[in-house]
Amino acid sequence: MTSASCASSNELGVYVHVPFCASRCAYCAFYQSPPRRRDMDSYAAALVAEWALRRVEEPIATLFFGGGTPGILSREHAARIAGALIGDGDSRPREWTVELSPASARPERLRHWKDLGVTRLSLGVQSFSEKILRALGRRQRSGDAEDAVIGARAMGFAVSVDLIFCVPGQTLADWREDLRRTIALAPDHISTYVLSGDEGSSLAARLPQLRRAATAGERFCRLGWDLLGEAGYEHYEVSNFARPGRRCQHNLNVWRMGRWLGLGPSAASQWRGRRFRNVASLELWQKGVELGRPCEEEEGPLTESILLEDTLIFGLRLREGIGRRRLEDRHGENFRRYLPLLERWTANRWLEECGDRLCLTDRGLLLADALGLEILCWPDGSF
Ligand code: SF4
Repeated sequence: MTSASCASSNELGVYVHVPFCASRCAYCAFYQSPPRRRDMDSYAAALVAEWALRRVEEPIATLFFGGGTPGILSREHAARIAGALIGDGDSRPREWTVELSPASARPERLRHWKDLGVTRLSLGVQSFSEKILRALGRRQRSGDAEDAVIGARAMGFAVSVDLIFCVPGQTLADWREDLRRTIALAPDHISTYVLSGDEGSSLAARLPQLRRAATAGERFCRLGWDLLGEAGYEHYEVSNFARPGRRCQHNLNVWRMGRWLGLGPSAASQWRGRRFRNVASLELWQKGVELGRPCEEEEGPLTESILLEDTLIFGLRLREGIGRRRLEDRHGENFRRYLPLLERWTANRWLEECGDRLCLTDRGLLLADALGLEILCWPDGSF
């Protein structure tokens, strides 16, 4: 097997996974652990050591602190990690995002992130309704979100708001109210995620679940598209909306199959011709770093077939779609294997050609999760 080079951007994105959460949300599927002071000290030390082990000799174009709850990091820990990754020189990332829960976005904390050089905050608002927040197991009060967005904007951050829909008990009127209150705050970027509960025993078993979820969520999705579009947000990816010039550059680099390095437990990377994911255990990850050998799972070369599969899956989730000629030139016969599948989607009006680009239609975007699964199973799945 040969390793493939990346499809588009040559810039480096770095993702830092901060695995601590004070409590567990009802819908959580991420690796996280309780925030014990001792663990956080050793986490920060190991993160700095992992960065040194990776021997990166180029500037970081985009940096993203996700979790978990990055906002739980103390000033001292955050400064230590930032000092190792970007120092205090001129080569700062052009975009540095930190995910924060609204409850941890107090003014003094925001000031600290600002002083470190953070440019963008992704606020896990999820909902403004106490009823929905309780159903999700979130600890914030609904007023925290408004205070956080207003405070962050006043301090000059680009602000992204995460919302969740299709929560059990949530009505279309509840969702409309969450959208209305979000739009009133005028964030730069909005991500809307469906609570799908799509875990099944096998890929093929998940497909009917994803199709049912798409049908159940259609009215919620279309309401979001309409209201956010009317408010001037560009729908640029299945779940993401931005004001002009405010798309998330870090995520775009990932979706366009650029290069990114993940640091911390469970962080995934596509880097130096390889795909890998750090072990999802704070203890094992730290041990590996201490021994000078980061402990990786799902490790392997970035092969042509993996690169093509993910170029199709993630590229089609973007409204801009994928350039067909580029796929043919880059992947040749491998790409042509997918043509019967793409032709079926076109016949079903899930896919269309816009000039040279292959793009999902609105109906196709609603089914994007299920279509991604079909690509993964092609040509062996029987759909
Ligand atoms: S804050 Fe995020 S990572 Fe932490 S428990 Fe909630 S969903 Fe999971």
